[in-house]
Amino acid sequence: MHHRRVLRRKGFALGVALLLGAAAAQGQEPEFSLLIKGGHVIDPRNGVNGVMDVAVTDGRIAQVAPDIAAARARRVADASGLYVVPGLIDLHAHVYYGTEDDAYLSNGFTAVPPDSHSFRSGQTTLVDVGGAGWRNFPHFKAQVIDRSRTRVLAFINIVGHGMKGGPVEQDLSDMDARLTAMRIRQFRDHIVGIKVAHFSGPEWDPVTRAVEAGTEADVPVMIDFGGHTPPLPLEELLLKRLRPGDILTHMYAHVRGRIPIVDESGTVYPFVLEARKRGVLFDVGHGGGSFLYRQAVPATKAGFFPDVISTDLHTGSMNGGMKDILNTMSKMLNLGMPLQDVVRANTAKAAEIIKKPELGHLGVGAEADIAVLNLRRGKFGFVDTAGGKALGDQKLECELTVKGGQVVWDLNGISHPLWSDMPAANPNAPLRRTGNR
Ligand SMILES: [Zn+2]
Repeated sequence: MHHRRVLRRKGFALGVALLLGAAAAQGQEPEFSLLIKGGHVIDPRNGVNGVMDVAVTDGRIAQVAPDIAAARARRVADASGLYVVPGLIDLHAHVYYGTEDDAYLSNGFTAVPPDSHSFRSGQTTLVDVGGAGWRNFPHFKAQVIDRSRTRVLAFINIVGHGMKGGPVEQDLSDMDARLTAMRIRQFRDHIVGIKVAHFSGPEWDPVTRAVEAGTEADVPVMIDFGGHTPPLPLEELLLKRLRPGDILTHMYAHVRGRIPIVDESGTVYPFVLEARKRGVLFDVGHGGGSFLYRQAVPATKAGFFPDVISTDLHTGSMNGGMKDILNTMSKMLNLGMPLQDVVRANTAKAAEIIKKPELGHLGVGAEADIAVLNLRRGKFGFVDTAGGKALGDQKLECELTVKGGQVVWDLNGISHPLWSDMPAANPNAPLRRTGNR
């Protein structure tokens, strides 16, 4: 608003309205709806890493270039000193919220409404992993996916009823590869994988059936390998049972019933390195019990960083050591993972894993999902799921989030004019939305 007005005033004063472009001179819409100016763009998929302006129109990326004139945009966000990255993808969240009793993360109280958490931490896509199974996915879609501004995708549970906790998740007779694959084919746009979690029996069947369904439907499988008594060998899972492109989540966990990736002497097991070589992927999946510095420190010292840095978001983890995806990414930064790699993990890499190459980058024509991040320097503390703290000097914070070209979060109003520059409100004028111009 502000820029167009200034432009018009100057234009008429100088009598060179034509030079300023027909649209502005005639009071039409400027060519870009939004311009993010002066930020350091990191777009790993397109090899961009430097100070650039990003212009948006019709909900899509219109141009990424140095020095795009502010006058060409209706709304300008000053991103100088900030990082501009593709909207973050959280590959492991729990957002199938609802009010069913004893339903845990499948239409229950422990899951989180997506829009209440996503945009404030730079996320434009949340992947719910295992909340719904083939039976209740349509309900999840109607109740959550279709009502959220956040893009919500899903790994459906190999358990037909989904992640309801307790005996429901132990029922081998409710784990059907064929029906799971059928549901995925029916909702191709929204279902991007299959989840196995919490199974405590001695059988391999949940993994076998998930991989079978994943092969049939051409999607990856994510395994929360935990709680088996006695523990099933992690080596067999990583080297024999999973395919390249399948994912082990909770990589830095050490819970009863699961072999960790780092042994007691602090060495990463050789079979873990071998698994990475054969294409198995490793996801943080921080959560309320799955991120230990006792694992993460020796692993990262040996260079074993995650492929993807996810939250395992639920009402417990968000108020514990995890907090949000940026806090989790900051932990990896402070453990020595380069910023470019941290950004890549939750943008281009995550998009590649879920076979959605149209997401996670800022190429011209892509949907304008953008996060503007502040990398703060100072003294910060980061808490793990055992309650231990690590100190760090870098912390990411979200300044601005854009979803489909709309500003959906703006911490300090960098895309807003000063109130005193705005015209006085006319209470008799027709109502106008001010939240997402
Ligand atoms: Zn989880």
